[in-house]
Amino acid sequence: MKRIVFSAMRPTGKLHLGHLVGALNNWLELQNNYNCIFGIVDWHALMGEYAQSKEIQENIVDMAIDWIAYGIDPEKSIIFVQSHVPEHLELQMIFSCITPLGWLERNPTYKEQLREIKTRDLQTYGFLGYPVLQAADIMLYRANAVPIGEDQLPHIELTREISRRFNHIYKTNFFADCEAILTKTPRLLGLDGRKMSKSYQNAINLSDPEKEIKKKAKNMFTDPKRIKLADPGHPNKCNVCSYYEVFAPEKKNEVHEWCTKAQKGCTDCKMILADILIDYLAPIRARRSELEKDKGRIQDILEEGRKKAQVIAKKTIAEIKEVIF
Ligand code: SF4
Repeated sequence: MKRIVFSAMRPTGKLHLGHLVGALNNWLELQNNYNCIFGIVDWHALMGEYAQSKEIQENIVDMAIDWIAYGIDPEKSIIFVQSHVPEHLELQMIFSCITPLGWLERNPTYKEQLREIKTRDLQTYGFLGYPVLQAADIMLYRANAVPIGEDQLPHIELTREISRRFNHIYKTNFFADCEAILTKTPRLLGLDGRKMSKSYQNAINLSDPEKEIKKKAKNMFTDPKRIKLADPGHPNKCNVCSYYEVFAPEKKNEVHEWCTKAQKGCTDCKMILADILIDYLAPIRARRSELEKDKGRIQDILEEGRKKAQVIAKKTIAEIKEVIF
């Protein structure tokens, strides 16, 4: 029996290069070795974007198209929408009853987001309970593992604590500890050198047309000490170079050479990168436009995913109720 892996994304906007590097590349590998369940977690999106709820619905199909275009295979993995499987909320409710408030209030991500995000009011009951729904998402499928970056370790720890508390309260060993599959992901900053984020509008999206990719690449933040063409640059400190490292590692030495010896200007360097990114994304965009013509098929895939996910989810909830009542 293959082990179960659960992972998810919030449908809050278009997928960008950061998603490829940070998650989808890992998913492609995982789907060959595990039973993968990939969720489009729209309830999570609503927790933060409750005032833009219409956009969430539009983003769901878009996200499924991006995943499939990139190679996530519905024949190998379950692809589904969280709100289509109501058992997620049922388990969230059960976990809510046993999760101490202090665990949620101390959650570093919660505190950071309250501090950083000023455009939305996140002082809500739902947002505080975000990790409880996350734990429910994972444990509903009794997932053995979740692929995460090191910065997300506290999330998985909270999931473990909640499921262990369930076991303790109800004197059971129903839930096994869920492991983290620590994924080594190269850190890709946004085009302006800040964290890559939809809210900063500093990312190249999978669906961007060529012209847009060129425009965005041209405006990329570079080594601030390289002012004139004749100034030697510092590729190790340049965000453009880090994109080469990820998308064209074979060119890294060449870039270092032309940069440190001031043989090429930054605009040329960025335009070469733009062409590399366009080539990299071309097959995905071609597949994407094919899939876009047949949105009925995407809906079918999501419905098929719902059915498969719900078989597992219903069984878990029935068994949990037997443990509790
Ligand atoms: Fe960055 Fe390229 Fe300019 Fe060097 S030449 S500073 S790597 S953009």
